[in-house]
Amino acid sequence: MSLDQRIIIVGGGLSGLALAYLLSKKSIKITILEASERLGGRIQTIKGAAGTPLELGATWFSDVHANLLALIGELGLKKYPQFSKGISLFQTKSFEPPQKFFVPEAETPSYRLVGGTQMLIDRLAQKLPDDAVLLNTKVKTVKETTNGVVLETSDGKTVETGKVVICIPPQLVAKQITCSPKLPEALDAVLPNVQTWMAGAVKFTLEYSAPFWRNEGYSGMLYSHAGIITEMYDHTNFEENKFGFTGFLGGGAASYTPEIRKEFVLRQLSELLGEQALRPTAYFDKVWSDEFILDGNQIIQRPHQYNGHLLLQQDYMNGKLFFAATETAAEFPGYMEGAVIAAQSIAARF
Ligand SMILES: Cc1cc2nc3c(=O)[nH]c(=O)nc-3n(C[C@H](O)[C@H](O)[C@H](O)COP(=O)(O)OP(=O)(O)OC[C@H]3O[C@@H](n4cnc5c(N)ncnc54)[C@H](O)[C@@H]3O)c2cc1C
Repeated sequence: MSLDQRIIIVGGGLSGLALAYLLSKKSIKITILEASERLGGRIQTIKGAAGTPLELGATWFSDVHANLLALIGELGLKKYPQFSKGISLFQTKSFEPPQKFFVPEAETPSYRLVGGTQMLIDRLAQKLPDDAVLLNTKVKTVKETTNGVVLETSDGKTVETGKVVICIPPQLVAKQITCSPKLPEALDAVLPNVQTWMAGAVKFTLEYSAPFWRNEGYSGMLYSHAGIITEMYDHTNFEENKFGFTGFLGGGAASYTPEIRKEFVLRQLSELLGEQALRPTAYFDKVWSDEFILDGNQIIQRPHQYNGHLLLQQDYMNGKLFFAATETAAEFPGYMEGAVIAAQSIAARF
């Protein structure tokens, strides 16, 4: 397959899609090669039995995320504040009752996207030409040629192009993509050590037919040192007619089966919020350590290690190879804002 002077974007997460959108606006032809069977990467909204948008991945943003907010506005999407009114709970020890506290209304609240964060992905994808995305297409080699680059996919197909922008976590580039000629040694040393933000996190989400906690004066916010749930928030939709929770499970939860995780989550919630917690209409969780986000363990000595490193912002292979995942961004690397910033800074170079 020859795609001549098109720009190939490797990875169909927020950075890849935002870049594709920005380049398309400049009338530059693009093709996205996405390894998995869906777009979105670390953004994944699913629906419960009642149709509640439930976030398995990225959920919140705030007023400081100016570039993301501008994109949300440009795409005609809407935000709403995270609900936090009422009694919040803090479990210090499993054998002591939880402490109750109230969170004052924040001057800059966390926001959620109306309809779910996936709306951002879906809306960006809708703006692209029909044939712009190839799913189930995992890139495994990038080879420089005289006029461009040749990419080889895991099913043995080759794609020729003028320029390629890699929008996947740098650690995956180090582990899964072979470059020829080899990348400079300094970059090679950095890539495997760039922390992939949220890799290894375990996120859970629950759907209920009624907001029984709100009716009892609870905010739905929980922080715990005692149970499997370490952090949880109300997950009611914008219209306030679909209800649930989302949050994070402790690190050890990754080694339990989904059934055991569900059992422990429901037990913890029923002890705190009553029997009704035992009857969700949906439970989902996700351990974010599959081949599309992480390859092997990362040794991390500080949060956001090497995120936004200068070497990630340079071009390679004589101006034919660029990087643009959120971890490459000069500001807010790791977050959705970073993905948009990374896309914008590469788009400005074409
Ligand atoms: C549990 C969780 C909670 C989060 N919460 C928040 C939050 O509340 N707020 C916030 O701002 N951010 C949050 N984030 C981070 C946010 O999701 C990311 O910053 C953002 O989505 C990253 O986008 P990206 O396109 O750079 O990377 P990704 O979303 O990782 O996209 C990379 C894409 O590349 C694909 N890919 C991988 N390897 C290959 C290959 N070899 N060939 C082709 N394709 C490949 C992957 O399948 C994936 O689709 C969270 C992330 C997680 C996991």
